[in-house]
Amino acid sequence: MVKEKRIALLPGDGIGPEVVAEGVKVLKAIEQKDKNLSFTFEQFPWGCEYYLQNGKMMDDDGLSQLQHFDAIYLGAVGYPGVPDHVSLRDLLLKIRKGFDQYVNLRPVKLLNERLSPLKGKAAKDIDLLVVRENSEGEYSGEGNWLYKGEPEEVVLQTGVFSRKGTERIIRYAFEEARRQGKSLTSVSKANALNYSMVFWDSVFEEVKRDYPDVETASYLVDAASMFLVMNPERFDIVVTSNLFGDILTDLGAAIAGGLGLATGANVNPERTYPSMFEPVHGSAPDIAGKGIANPLAAIWSVAQMMDHFGEEEWGRKIVSTIQQIMDEDEKLTPDFGGEATTAEVGDRFIKLLTS
Ligand code: ATP
Ligand code: MG
Repeated sequence: MVKEKRIALLPGDGIGPEVVAEGVKVLKAIEQKDKNLSFTFEQFPWGCEYYLQNGKMMDDDGLSQLQHFDAIYLGAVGYPGVPDHVSLRDLLLKIRKGFDQYVNLRPVKLLNERLSPLKGKAAKDIDLLVVRENSEGEYSGEGNWLYKGEPEEVVLQTGVFSRKGTERIIRYAFEEARRQGKSLTSVSKANALNYSMVFWDSVFEEVKRDYPDVETASYLVDAASMFLVMNPERFDIVVTSNLFGDILTDLGAAIAGGLGLATGANVNPERTYPSMFEPVHGSAPDIAGKGIANPLAAIWSVAQMMDHFGEEEWGRKIVSTIQQIMDEDEKLTPDFGGEATTAEVGDRFIKLLTS
């Protein structure tokens, strides 16, 4: 039976459309090769350029337009002159919240040692998956600003850790660890955050009882940051809060080849709503329109999409093809020291993937 998947394209701004075009080429190549898969695409023009023309980042009924897709494939959103908080709040956060994408999945996998500032033993085993809480925690937006401008001025920023929100992300990570046969590490900070992280740790201990087959560890975030640099082999799957996940995944991207390769998925595990797949980099206005953006992060996002569709064979194949491309220096884009264009890398990728 042919699996039909509907994919909403949100190429966005700057280099977004340039890299998404290569990802779509890859999806079409997969469809050609795999008679059991069929993709349909619909493109949406939303983003900062749309905002500058229409005064809004997306249509008012944008979420209901997207609701029935199996996946959202996003390029990048951002434009000089449109404040980041507007583009983030009115498009990305709206989708993440509206579609309850409470899991952020960020693979940290080094494909080629020369891409990492880490050398030798540490660089040999950088291969982990960060499961970041994506809906509440330190980024709840709750707080208070008291006595503004007065000597007694006090600012409160509240972390919100609900039972439901904490348990579901930890449970998701345990399920993933069990499914992959890997260990799970919880990262928190209970020695300093005496409500939120004490609670986090207690929920982790509680949920752990349901997964006696999963090996676990628990680190403070400061120690975890150090180990990520000194002993990255300690980590398989990592579950952590919104803020710590934000920081650890940037550190992860830095040790694993930088923005040119980093990808992330915003997942609604229940599949009530579509999940969203995107390269981590931004719209890169400095190189937009030149045809030299590196498409590999956007292509890695396609691998995450395939995993989400239950097509993990394709997911693995895409990642190993990226690895193959990284091994051939001269066929890369300028950010990786090569002279190839975006489209040349995409074409080469497809050739390797389907040969
Ligand atoms: P935004 O406001 O959309 O986040 P930004 O310029 O702040 O954009 P990025 O777009 O992430 O942030 O870019 C940071 C730097 O990395 C820029 O110099 C950019 O050219 C480079 N860069 C980012 N993505 C890529 C890519 N896919 N290929 C090549 N260079 C990239
Ligand atoms: Mg940026």
